[in-house]
Amino acid sequence: MNATRPPSSCAPRLLALCGGVGGAKLALGLERLYGEAVSIVVNTGDDFEHLGLHVSPDIDTVLYTLGGRSDLERGWGRAGETWQFMKALHELGGETWFQLGDRDLAMHVERTRQLRANVSLTDITRDIAEKFGIAATILPMSDDRVETTVITANAAMPFQRYFVEKQCTPVVKRIEFRGAERASASDAVLAALRNPGLEAIIICPSNPYLSIDPILSIRNLRSALKEAAVPIVVVSPLIGGQAVKGPTAKIMAELGVPAESRALVAHYAGLIDGIVIDEQDRADAAGLGLPVCVAPTLMRNLEDRTRLARTTAEFAIKLTARASQTSGGAS
Ligand code: GDP
Repeated sequence: MNATRPPSSCAPRLLALCGGVGGAKLALGLERLYGEAVSIVVNTGDDFEHLGLHVSPDIDTVLYTLGGRSDLERGWGRAGETWQFMKALHELGGETWFQLGDRDLAMHVERTRQLRANVSLTDITRDIAEKFGIAATILPMSDDRVETTVITANAAMPFQRYFVEKQCTPVVKRIEFRGAERASASDAVLAALRNPGLEAIIICPSNPYLSIDPILSIRNLRSALKEAAVPIVVVSPLIGGQAVKGPTAKIMAELGVPAESRALVAHYAGLIDGIVIDEQDRADAAGLGLPVCVAPTLMRNLEDRTRLARTTAEFAIKLTARASQTSGGAS
């Protein structure tokens, strides 16, 4: 898939914040257009230890998607997957609530082996991305553990228990990012944010509460984002008040927030300089109080992904141009 990618020496240097499936759709578009000029900072708040293995669901979604190995029909995991391990585990009476395909299992076994040999998650991810032929740099948000924990009326649930085992049915009262106060962004993430060539930061259309907030919960990552003198734009994960997939709108309702563009702008207040919303939500644009780009945001195929990636990048970079024109005019 790299063969069609244009040389990226003159591509705009971009950094994206990304969760899993929704975020990876746009990340793929960015990677196909701008290749190695793109850095993707990925949520690791969903990471957990399962069957003695370290599982990094969002990192793997991004690796499989950009590496051309994802199962597009099922919407998660690897293409051409087989399930012999799960069948054998079931026969033994083992824990089967979290599906691990045979090919996927190889990722978790090898990653866990390397982590135990003191290789960092950042280095392991870089190595696998290279083996998968991915031009963009994929960066775990941190090498420290941050655990997204969903607080319901009567339980504090690790993310995967809520998302996979309970199928997002419990009512969410609050979400905590345990360990965030001690966690640091990796040096690689900080270097990408401080790269003087960086032109824009894009928040992918990921779940703001479960996928982006864990990234923002890391103090030095959030301050480096704010200090980066480039525009930050978010692509809305909502279309017509609904999430395309997953619990974003349900969680917003449970937290007492309307599932609409202005709630997203309020959620990211003080951080973003612009928002990309869907054509269906055009009527929202006037009242948002910041630059808005209205575009088709439903990404059904690769063409949709690259189109939205280009629209978003050009929108963000124009904000840069406007900012420098303004300061140029003032001086
Ligand atoms: P997860 O970690 O696998 O749940 O994935 P993310 O947090 O990255 O993405 C979930 C969000 O992606 C949901 O809120 C969806 O509404 C959003 N999403 C998925 N596909 C699309 C799409 O084609 N367009 C837009 N705008 N949002 C999408």
